[in-house]
Amino acid sequence: MIIMKFGGTSIQDTTAIKRISETILQRKSEHPAVVVSAIGNSTDSLEEMSAVAAQKDRRQAYALAIQFISFHKKLAHALGCDDDSGLQAVFTSVENDLRRIVDNILQSGHVARHIRDELSSLGEYCSAHIITAYLNSIGCDSRVVDAREIIVTDSQFGNAHPLVEESSIKIKQILKPVAEKDTIAVMQGFIGRDTFGRTTTLGRGGSDYSATFIGAILKADRVEIWSDVDGVLTADPSIVPKARRIRYMSFQEAAELAYFGAKVLHPSSLLPAIEHGIPVRVLNSNRPDYAGTEISDQKPKGQQHCVFKSIAYKEGITVIKVSSTRMLMAYGFIASIFEIFERYQTPVDLISTSEVSVSITIDDTSRLSEIRRELLRFAQVEVLQKKAIVCLVGEALKRETAVTGSIFSELSDFVVYQISHGASDINISFVIDEENISPVVNTLHTLFFKNGADERLFGSEL
Ligand code: ADP
Ligand code: ASP
Ligand code: MG
Repeated sequence: MIIMKFGGTSIQDTTAIKRISETILQRKSEHPAVVVSAIGNSTDSLEEMSAVAAQKDRRQAYALAIQFISFHKKLAHALGCDDDSGLQAVFTSVENDLRRIVDNILQSGHVARHIRDELSSLGEYCSAHIITAYLNSIGCDSRVVDAREIIVTDSQFGNAHPLVEESSIKIKQILKPVAEKDTIAVMQGFIGRDTFGRTTTLGRGGSDYSATFIGAILKADRVEIWSDVDGVLTADPSIVPKARRIRYMSFQEAAELAYFGAKVLHPSSLLPAIEHGIPVRVLNSNRPDYAGTEISDQKPKGQQHCVFKSIAYKEGITVIKVSSTRMLMAYGFIASIFEIFERYQTPVDLISTSEVSVSITIDDTSRLSEIRRELLRFAQVEVLQKKAIVCLVGEALKRETAVTGSIFSELSDFVVYQISHGASDINISFVIDEENISPVVNTLHTLFFKNGADERLFGSEL
């Protein structure tokens, strides 16, 4: 069995949906279970709808709701599957849900986190049903398996995590029998349900996580992540247009890249695959025959010539510098700092310590003022905003430690606030001003990936 996950751009219009349906059919003998994102940018429009409703702009909120539903109806019509009675019932229930949720937000003037998740889940609900109706209309027997019935999560709305034991029972009971037959199971990515029966979402881009989670539980032969790029690239192509496809990556390399911002994979998506050793392929739905990137624990030969495989960056980073000459060396000082971050449920990305201070980066600033207040009880605190983490990843870094010098001499024109090298021996990360992301990443890309770099690693062979 395989898992095939299609992102928003891979299903954005009739041509794209017809193309991925062919790709699914070609793999039918491998028993694919299909995971879909919302169509195009429809999750963005649902988020906009809740923001507009929270500002009590009734007219605009209703206009967006009507636009959302008519977009999906038109697409189903253009695909020729809108006479499916099940699909008509889905549109009616989505219309009712939109009205109920938007009215609730308009009335209260704010968006409760569980309400936001309920609204955001409607994009995947529509896409899963439209794609299933289309597959059935071309004679490919398929069925929606509702993700909320099989993915049980914690109650962290907007950033939920699936619970392994609870979900495992349901996935094996409900999804597995469908996927083992000749029926294609199509499920929504991104969403689940908490133990109280409320809809949750796994964070933006969370369909990747749904796919690897299901793949790990079903011990799939592989998980395919279908997107709009040729695979995992040496950098984000929107800022480095010459970024190149990476043919093979280890689980660890891909996990670090995803965590440090390579948007093509959700930050937590590699974890289930690593735990269960399930290979992940990142593929381009516009070029279905291209080999893409293979992520696994198999080590192909010929990688030793390249120190780095890819550069990622994460924007919107805040640096918190905590100093206390009196306390720093004192037993328990660092522990008391981290206890505060833990208490306010704020994950920390990079940490570095000097003789007089500890620097910590965070990206979630929702509890920053409380954290700052607590830290000020025993230390001086400086907060630097609008920073970015740049992260270079590659397993060969373990052997080539001298490379750090060449990175920072090349970046001598830019302020570097914090460096972390060694926490993981396959990455070097450092903090810069957000406005310098593009020049810094391009400078490093030219340094490490100029044409002529190892063709066995980046080569354009299929
Ligand atoms: P999908 O809708 O298919 O899930 P995403 O927009 O979430 O697609 O992710 C794909 C996008 O990730 C690409 O279009 C690209 O702009 C961006 N991206 C950022 N870093 C990388 C990288 N290192 N390799 C490939 N794509 C990247
Ligand atoms: N539709 C969701 C989003 O846009 C999830 C996903 O695409 O993976 O973030
Ligand atoms: Mg994505």
